[in-house]
Amino acid sequence: MYLDDAPETQPCAVCDKPVRGERVHRGCRQHMADALRQLPKLYRQLAEALIPGRRGDGPAVSGSPGSSMPPNEDALDLRSRGGIEGVVGGWARDLCDRERWDIPAYQSVQAIVDWSCSVLLANLAVICDEHPAVKEIAHELGKVTAQANAIITGEKQPRRIGVSCTCGRTLKVTLDTAGVRCPDCSAQYGHSEALRLPLAERRAA
Ligand SMILES: [Zn+2]
Ligand SMILES: [Zn+2]
Repeated sequence: MYLDDAPETQPCAVCDKPVRGERVHRGCRQHMADALRQLPKLYRQLAEALIPGRRGDGPAVSGSPGSSMPPNEDALDLRSRGGIEGVVGGWARDLCDRERWDIPAYQSVQAIVDWSCSVLLANLAVICDEHPAVKEIAHELGKVTAQANAIITGEKQPRRIGVSCTCGRTLKVTLDTAGVRCPDCSAQYGHSEALRLPLAERRAA
């Protein structure tokens, strides 16, 4: 009879802190579940953030510092293809590819967001137990949920700028970015390298 038959501790696949007997902390998994439950609702709420005068910021004073920034550009980014859809849709399609499931051909971004969140939520246990990129999934879900919440609550967040990767993909960075990796070509840029990339042309969504 061994006294040390308790499961070994190992680093959590999401947060790297020790966890015993599981690959991902229950709390880390819960965090992902919360994001997946919130995102379809946040997607709809962001539509309101696109209507001028609905943000409760008070009247815009022309010429005052900061007022020249279009207030709802970030909401538009999150609602367009590649915003919230890019995160949850990308990972949901990845999951379906792995499992050889059919991917429904939804036309609207909202339908893709709804479908993706429900697929990821229904398979969250498998993702946490097995998916090699569970850390990226968790971080991207957390980040996009925080961005959406910040816009909806009117909280100030660091300004994001679009820069062009050498492969042509637009990467969103903040002035205090620690670095960024291009999801298309896997190029890795440090802080100053990222900020030296050429500014991306803004395309209509
Ligand atoms: Zn954890
Ligand atoms: Zn690239």
